[in-house]
Amino acid sequence: MPDSASKLALRISRRLAQHAYKEMLPLCADIGVVSFTFDDAPASACEAGARTLERHGARGTFYVAGGLTGSLEEGKPCHTRDHLLALLAAGHELGCHSYSHIRCDTLTAPELERELDRNAAFLAEFGVDSATLDFAYPFGAYAYNAKRICSKRFRSSRITGGGAHEDYADLNALKTHRLYDIAVDAEDYETLLERTSRQKGWLIVNTHDVENPPSRYGTTPERLERAIAAALAAGCKVLPVNAAIDYWQQYANAADA
Ligand SMILES: [Zn+2]
Repeated sequence: MPDSASKLALRISRRLAQHAYKEMLPLCADIGVVSFTFDDAPASACEAGARTLERHGARGTFYVAGGLTGSLEEGKPCHTRDHLLALLAAGHELGCHSYSHIRCDTLTAPELERELDRNAAFLAEFGVDSATLDFAYPFGAYAYNAKRICSKRFRSSRITGGGAHEDYADLNALKTHRLYDIAVDAEDYETLLERTSRQKGWLIVNTHDVENPPSRYGTTPERLERAIAAALAAGCKVLPVNAAIDYWQQYANAADA
């Protein structure tokens, strides 16, 4: 664990990062968007999570750390290579989540670059294009240097928590609502969804496993089902992260023209 001096340095670094290396994406479309994302891509997310989205004609983004492929995470099976192939074949998106599933805020620049190179090479084996890769910080742990490096490498980088986006989204620090079994965010999903629908904003949801009972960081298939159905009933589009960025950019470009 970092000592208290380095914890303070990390807090300052994160605060600085909130205001640096921003890439503001204007959110000016006719209707709002909800994106469902699955960190670590546990086997249950690749199966029940993916199926639940597909039943609604929707797709999700799965943030993959190659070092977890074929392994157990906290006693639960993570994804296999076959899961990743099946997700891509069904039209879901794979994003980067570092290779070793490691906190990126305490790595040196060369250590972080090596992690990201290694996972890009892993995902390239599945045909994932590193030029349009989206990233999610493991444990949501970002800082000034990590944001500088990730802003150059990824189409977007996602943190954890923070709520919904209205008017603009910082592509280098996309916020989420955590759809976890044990609530951790101040506002609940339904409140954020209502505002996203009204303001035509972008709500990114993140969770982990999708099973019954879930881990504290996961959710049940029934809860996920209700969340997707509610998003569609509220008139929002349900799009994975890369497709959502395409959608917003199309409107931004049309406004510029
Ligand atoms: Zn993770």
